[in-house]
Amino acid sequence: MYSQAKPLLVQNASIIDGLSDKILYHQNLLIQNGIILRIWRGEVGETSGIDVIQADNEFVIPGLIDSHTHLFPSCYNLFLSHGITAVRDMASEADRTIEQKRRIETGDIRGPRIYTHGELIDGTTSRRKDAPYTICVANEDEIVVVINSLAEKGVDGIKLYSELPLHVFSRGVHRAHEIGLPVSAHVGHSRRVTVKQAVEAGVDAIEHTATFLPDMFPPDELAETMGDAYTIKNQLRGFIAWSKVDLQKPRVSRIISLLAEKRVYHTPTLINIENLINGERSIGDNEQLLLKQIPEEIKVNWRQQTPSLFEEWSDEERKIATQGFEKIKHLVGLLYREGVRLGVGSDAPNPWTIPGAALIREMELMVECGIPPMKVIQLATKNSAVALGKRFEDVGSIKEGNSADLIILKENPAIDISNCRKIAYVIRRGLLHNPAEFE
Ligand SMILES: [Zn+2]
Repeated sequence: MYSQAKPLLVQNASIIDGLSDKILYHQNLLIQNGIILRIWRGEVGETSGIDVIQADNEFVIPGLIDSHTHLFPSCYNLFLSHGITAVRDMASEADRTIEQKRRIETGDIRGPRIYTHGELIDGTTSRRKDAPYTICVANEDEIVVVINSLAEKGVDGIKLYSELPLHVFSRGVHRAHEIGLPVSAHVGHSRRVTVKQAVEAGVDAIEHTATFLPDMFPPDELAETMGDAYTIKNQLRGFIAWSKVDLQKPRVSRIISLLAEKRVYHTPTLINIENLINGERSIGDNEQLLLKQIPEEIKVNWRQQTPSLFEEWSDEERKIATQGFEKIKHLVGLLYREGVRLGVGSDAPNPWTIPGAALIREMELMVECGIPPMKVIQLATKNSAVALGKRFEDVGSIKEGNSADLIILKENPAIDISNCRKIAYVIRRGLLHNPAEFE
């Protein structure tokens, strides 16, 4: 289905392969039938019958992987136009997403490779009760039934949410592992299950660094700082509490070591916090056009959720929020330096988070956390592909025999990560696309 009559040659490019810290200069890549056939330096020889891209001052990197997103049907072009050729879908309608995943695999429709969790599973006290792609369960028997049915539909993993009581949560982890599915957790917010408890229960992945908050304080101290009600102002309380976190405390280093030791995969999603603080101001001038590709009902939801929050805060409150955010970024830097496996995820379409563009912003934020740009590229490519498992082992790095999911950039992203925005071409399953094709 993807076979292209002519092979494609990318000539004299600089390669960032997702594996090594070194840039490989003056490389030629020959691509055919969706595969990187050959990579070599030097003479090219006869090129009749081959499409040639002259890439003298350009940089080839693996296609990016968004490790935390929620798919909706019209978002595929936004991902592809930003060089995102694979996504980890963290909750959507299982039936629809799995059908779309199959149609993308067969070449029937254009989209990124999909890894999906289907619906997330939450407890019956959930605020998300009537929210889309949420299944609420009351007890251990129910969680087993739901996991079995998601597995039957063909999900790639199970996502457990924050209102599950610990014993039901643990039963869910156990059942998913019994049938060979990895488990990812969004916990912490409700304080029913903390990050530490989730890791001890055996989860494979933890989402959102902001959810570490209950693990940062002794329980009584946190209750005092935060109170219990969940209100807009309580969002501010979260920031106040974060601004008071002491990252030198042994309880903080213990949780970091635990994540590193258990090889838990963690996706920070910093951009959501930035967008929460900035509301509609998060959308840059260059992103206004992209907004047109977001369905109206999603934008209505964004407007309802966050600008009011921004408008309600005083200058002083915004300052505290920013201090809290800086603390979270500091923690992400610590997680990286202590060897925790990190993913790069946008959580699009959360408020003002545009699929595709948001991942590049997340990469910039991770550089701000103190992670070198070359490492951030590896996190968003090779490391994420490894976390997604066997089906993704031939993407995320540039080597002979791998699938040709690639981006050709006009400038060096290892010097400035923002250069990931300067896309000359996207190569998806060996097919060459000008990013404008996806608009
Ligand atoms: Zn999410």
